[in-house]
Amino acid sequence: MPTSKPQNPAKNARTPAQGARNAPKPASQNATAPSTKPKRSRTIKPRSPERVAAILTSLRAAYPNVVCALTHRNAFELTIATILSAQTTDVNVNKVTPELFKLYPTPQKLAQASLNELETILKPTGFFRSKSKNIKAAAQVLVDTFHSKVPETIDELIQLPGVARKTANVVLGSWFGLPSGVVVDTHVLRLSRRLELTTSIAPENVEKDLQKIIPQDRWIQFSHELIHHGRQICIARRPLCADCTLEPLCNSADKTWTSH
Ligand code: SF4
Repeated sequence: MPTSKPQNPAKNARTPAQGARNAPKPASQNATAPSTKPKRSRTIKPRSPERVAAILTSLRAAYPNVVCALTHRNAFELTIATILSAQTTDVNVNKVTPELFKLYPTPQKLAQASLNELETILKPTGFFRSKSKNIKAAAQVLVDTFHSKVPETIDELIQLPGVARKTANVVLGSWFGLPSGVVVDTHVLRLSRRLELTTSIAPENVEKDLQKIIPQDRWIQFSHELIHHGRQICIARRPLCADCTLEPLCNSADKTWTSH
């Protein structure tokens, strides 16, 4: 997971339409200014191919080669780590998985684990009782149904307890390199709405909206890029718009100009 600040090439990538936009600028890079609502440009449609392409170009430049932040060495570990990432941060998951996979390195070993031992290891991730049951049961399904191999289709993956479409997309995209869908987590959902790429609220509908406008060969990296942008810059409560590579392209009413 990159820890350095993203590059910001799109500061110079305004289109004529964006240049005409009268968005407010930070009064001071070091001062806390009140959030203001910029006037919104409607000279180009939010989901137009040229605007979407500009967003994709800026994200790729800002987060080149970004990868999944969950530590893993194989598809099994990524599947389990992604199940554990529900309702917690990847950082928290990465703190417990080294011990977990040291003790239970294979589906067979994990399926035989005691729930008490799993709960002790997983406690820092929250919801540790249900997560312990899910990963043990998921390992059992891998053993019983899939010859201890992680399957490579969504329909098969969602047979594993604790695995829904989002988790399946993470595994298929990040390990197998299969663009099965767009991973819509809390960051992708928030940013897609702020960037007016969707007006939907339900993740499954957001994913459908994104799939219509994002080329399929960008689905995997687009998710990674947006997740990292959401963690580092387009933060939920106070986005760091003065530092945002997408600012020239963004008409969000949530913009704030607090610099850090
Ligand atoms: S950080 Fe600000 S300018 Fe950038 S995408 Fe988020 S709301 Fe828009």
